[in-house]
Amino acid sequence: MEKNYRAELVGVLGDPVDGNPTGVMEEAGFEAAGLNWRYITVKVLPGDLDAAMAGVRAFNMRGVNLTMPHKINVLKHMDELSEAARVIGAVNTVVCREDGTMFGENTDGKGFVQSLTDAGVSLEGARVAILGAGGAARSIGVECALAGAKAIAVINRNAERGRSLAQAINAHTPAEAIYLPWSGTAQIPDGTDILINATCVGLHPDVNACPDVDFDGVRPGMVVCDVVFNPVDTPFLKNAAARGARTLDGLGMLVNQGCINYELWTGRKAPRDVMYAKLKSEFGL
Ligand code: NDP
Repeated sequence: MEKNYRAELVGVLGDPVDGNPTGVMEEAGFEAAGLNWRYITVKVLPGDLDAAMAGVRAFNMRGVNLTMPHKINVLKHMDELSEAARVIGAVNTVVCREDGTMFGENTDGKGFVQSLTDAGVSLEGARVAILGAGGAARSIGVECALAGAKAIAVINRNAERGRSLAQAINAHTPAEAIYLPWSGTAQIPDGTDILINATCVGLHPDVNACPDVDFDGVRPGMVVCDVVFNPVDTPFLKNAAARGARTLDGLGMLVNQGCINYELWTGRKAPRDVMYAKLKSEFGL
């Protein structure tokens, strides 16, 4: 049989991406399955997305992930969107099909909801407060609402983005959403069951940064989650744990959405244990 030295390419486009470990996780999964696939981690500045997407096509890549700041701007390059991606208004996973069309999906929120399920936390009837209204926050907000959350408070500095997320949840899901402005120190709404940092505050290299919230509003037993995964143990989670909260780090969400992406690209079941173990070893856990 003739040998094939060409690898199938996938990857991530974003800035910053230096601390993004998705590639090692996906490649561990490809290797375990004997697939000659590579995942490249590419720094793409905000004004260069169009050129980068032309490159994705020119390199015959099988798909890409988008991370900040490209999840919304990439929409114009999509030929078709999943229903979730349409409601969320952001894409984090592109599948490049054989016919040359590009399909956009959003797996962030699905991965987040799965990480709550894995930890035995139910969203049914829950009151959720989300810090942030960017791509990750939109995905998490919509998927939490679809998974049974009763009320969702969106706390964000930029009012237009915050209102837009609350409106999308109210228009497309049974949950009730409100927008709360964020200037100065944010107050956590009374009765919050699950608090989520879906901003990029605390992300490498600003590892000492913490979202400006009043931690006195964190009750013992509240579930407090961070989407930031690098570092795993963020000041936000440390402050919440000090008040008796149950904390969930961003790694669970990362591995779960990584598995969904793997399956979309390869059509095979992802070796989750291998991928999670690789991620944990990257973080010395
Ligand atoms: P976006 O750029 O789309 O959104 C960033 C959000 O952070 C905006 O709501 C912005 O508010 C807010 N923000 C930024 N700085 C501050 C600040 N100083 N105070 C308050 N709010 C602030 O980014 P993404 O949504 O794509 O990514 C957000 C984070 O989620 C990143 O850290 C990313 O690494 C992480 N992530 C984790 C995943 C995982 O699997 N664990 C998956 C996907 C993302 P405003 O609108 O007011 O500007």
